[in-house]
Amino acid sequence: MIMAKEKTDIQVQIREGLTIGSDEVVLIAGPCSAESYEQARRVAQTVAEIGIKIFRGGAFKPRTSPHAFQGLGEEGLKILRDVADEFGLALVTEALGIEQVELVAEYADIIQIGSRNMQHFPLLWAVGEMNKPIMLKRGFMSTVEEWLMAAEHIANRGNENIILCERGIRSFDHSTRNVFDTSAIALLKQISPYPVIGDPSHATGRRDLIIPASRAAVAAGADGLMVEFHPKPDEALSDGDQALPLEMLPQWFEEVGKVAAALGREIS
Ligand code: PEP
Ligand code: MN
Repeated sequence: MIMAKEKTDIQVQIREGLTIGSDEVVLIAGPCSAESYEQARRVAQTVAEIGIKIFRGGAFKPRTSPHAFQGLGEEGLKILRDVADEFGLALVTEALGIEQVELVAEYADIIQIGSRNMQHFPLLWAVGEMNKPIMLKRGFMSTVEEWLMAAEHIANRGNENIILCERGIRSFDHSTRNVFDTSAIALLKQISPYPVIGDPSHATGRRDLIIPASRAAVAAGADGLMVEFHPKPDEALSDGDQALPLEMLPQWFEEVGKVAAALGREIS
């Protein structure tokens, strides 16, 4: 059992005037993958129009099947950075391996370490040597303690700019893709100094559950949320089932805002 300890909460500064881990609930939205310039641009534009400040999108994708779309690689990074800059957005995108860390760091404001890589220690050491914000997703079969130890591998190398992301864990029940561990969010707010965000897309795998799961994460004390959006989810090259269509972005924003307001928090 992990015990609560004295801690000083860390606020991770993404850029001037934008931090995760403050009173605000910070929203992150974007496609699972950058598929084309037009697709990424449409999503970024809608995200910026509503007032969200952080854009997500993958260029190097950790796909279970080697036959599935693997992402556009460096071309994808360029597209994501271009459209993020056009609309003044910060960007979070994944580095899959050590050899990509320097390259991804040139494009990203936040480097994502994916669920499958949570215990890829040399990768954790590599991002620990940087001073960029790191989003560490929970391994889908990892305990909270293992997750915190993984964060410690990063912090030990000098980088404490860590954002934890609860993205669901595997269980016996396949009615949802994973089980969204909102109690882990609440627990981490008590025992860990790092900000914690929820990812209802990967946690539930179902777009009809994204709004209720988002509300739950904010109610549990999440410092932010990350959700996948696509102009045409049914045609998405990855994770279409768990992406909300772009036209639902205002509704999602509003619903999350209601829960945040009930807790005396603002969203951005
Ligand atoms: C993603 O964010 O698109 C992703 C692949 O997430 P995870 O590592 O949580 O599966
Ligand atoms: Mn995805």
